[in-house]
Amino acid sequence: MTRQIKCPTCRHETEWENNPHRPFCSKRCQLIDLGAWVEERYRIPGKKFEPAPDDQENEDDSD
Ligand SMILES: [Zn+2]
Repeated sequence: MTRQIKCPTCRHETEWENNPHRPFCSKRCQLIDLGAWVEERYRIPGKKFEPAPDDQENEDDSD
């Protein structure tokens, strides 16, 4: 028995088993969804990517 799922992007019915792109039906739909997600993320106003402060791991081995 094969499990059928609906692709979140195109709503096309696709198989769950042996599907490397699940829950999407294809790589295309996977990329579309990822693209939308990234776009949404960048659209958030006032939220900037703050560069992580350099972790100063000064391992002082000198005697
Ligand atoms: Zn799809």
